Amino acid sequence: MAEKTLGSPQNTIEILKKYNFSFQKKYGQNFLIDTHVLDKIIEAAKITQEDFVLEIGPGIGTMTQYLAREAGRVLAVEIDRALIPILRDTLQDYENVEIVNADILKLDIQRLVEEKNEGKPIKVVANLPYYITTPIIMGLFESRVPVESITVMVQKEVAGRMQAGPGTKEYGALSLAVRYYAKPYLVANVPPNCFMPRPKVGSAVVRLTRNAEPPVETEDDRFLFRLIRASFNQRRKTLFNGLRNSAELDIPKEVIAESIEELGKGANVRGEALSLQEFALLGNSILQKMHRLADGPEEK
Ligand code: SAM
Repeated sequence: MAEKTLGSPQNTIEILKKYNFSFQKKYGQNFLIDTHVLDKIIEAAKITQEDFVLEIGPGIGTMTQYLAREAGRVLAVEIDRALIPILRDTLQDYENVEIVNADILKLDIQRLVEEKNEGKPIKVVANLPYYITTPIIMGLFESRVPVESITVMVQKEVAGRMQAGPGTKEYGALSLAVRYYAKPYLVANVPPNCFMPRPKVGSAVVRLTRNAEPPVETEDDRFLFRLIRASFNQRRKTLFNGLRNSAELDIPKEVIAESIEELGKGANVRGEALSLQEFALLGNSILQKMHRLADGPEEK
């Protein structure tokens, strides 16, 4: 079959019929069928011939075709084995595309980037499977994969959480991680009729541009994010109780209480009231006190 540009309802249906493909709900399969949205994503991702692009979940290869035309190389990682022969067909004319049949959450992306792009920063572009949006994004940030930008379609509500500030309902660990690692930019809101099948929720495209340096100073950013996760685990509890009851952290309660007091926000403050800067101060103060305890009493 000669290359057929996907992205329209007719061509998508044709491919699905040809391969007798059935959508797998468990994989969050909603394929894009709107060329305007595809153009917007590609434009927002600012892809050039120099770029190595990782696409997570190519589906039948709709966006992959667009990416392949702009990028130097595209690595497309798809979990659903039934889509692999389809991708080999729809992407046959693109020599710069490599298809990998794998679960993105189980893949050592850092090693892959090292092997395939000599460890140089990559761009991630994806219409993400919504059931694992947060683990994918947090994983990309926390695993220290060299990523220049992440341009993704997510559930509209998740786009809201990425941009939320302290004191709002949407504010949480994802908002803080995004702020720490990147600058978020809302590219477009996308209604359900741009997908096949139609999702029940609205969607949005967001671009996250990696910060050259984090906006706050931390002694240990892995500890900072354990602290942040613990603070939001029990949203309705005070920060003190959230940290005290965390299975991930083992901080003496006096250390927690003193460090919270130093923030000057009152003993009953909740995690959702703290900015990234305040979480960083809290984390550094806790670590310093714990080092002191570990070193024993000061000699006189
Ligand atoms: N990119 C295509 C498009 O825009 O039409 C499909 C997007 S669809 C929302 C999400 C895709 O991610 C599906 O093809 C699905 O099979 C794939 N997927 C789901 N979970 C995955 C995982 N853990 N690893 C890799 N791909 C996954």
